[in-house]
Amino acid sequence: MTVSSILADKGPDVVTVSPEETLLDVTKLLDKHKIGAVLATDSNGKLAGIISERDVVRAVARGGPEALGEAVGTHMTKKVVTCKKEDRVNSVMMQMTEGKFRHVPVIDGGKIAGIISIGDVVRRRIADIETEWRAMQDYIAAG
Ligand code: AMP
Repeated sequence: MTVSSILADKGPDVVTVSPEETLLDVTKLLDKHKIGAVLATDSNGKLAGIISERDVVRAVARGGPEALGEAVGTHMTKKVVTCKKEDRVNSVMMQMTEGKFRHVPVIDGGKIAGIISIGDVVRRRIADIETEWRAMQDYIAAG
């Protein structure tokens, strides 16, 4: 099972910010879209970083509420682990587990093609296990 099968369900939509926007802007986007991370893109739409709720929490914990006025570029993670559509979901799950992050952008032909979250991965794994289980029950019943 590949990343493209998850994208086929959820689509390629990704919420982005510019590195000049503030952490307060990020909190509004996270709240509005009910998500845990947004991608930062440069003026050409290229991936510049990722900023998640964890980064906002860390910034406020260390800098107080004034940190909410600081720029995304100061607090985002610039070295982003990405995946490709043809990557296997299991390998993306391993990357998330090893790197202790819950979001992985999908890059296709140098462009952002979607984002996979740990929630998407778990949802897909459960659906697959249920399908296998039903097939097994049908097989047993037919015998
Ligand atoms: P998350 O678990 O996604 O909320 O992110 C936890 C931390 O990892 C935050 O500092 C994020 O900026 C960072 N992070 C999230 N996704 C990635 C990724 N794909 N590559 C590198 N760092 C990431």
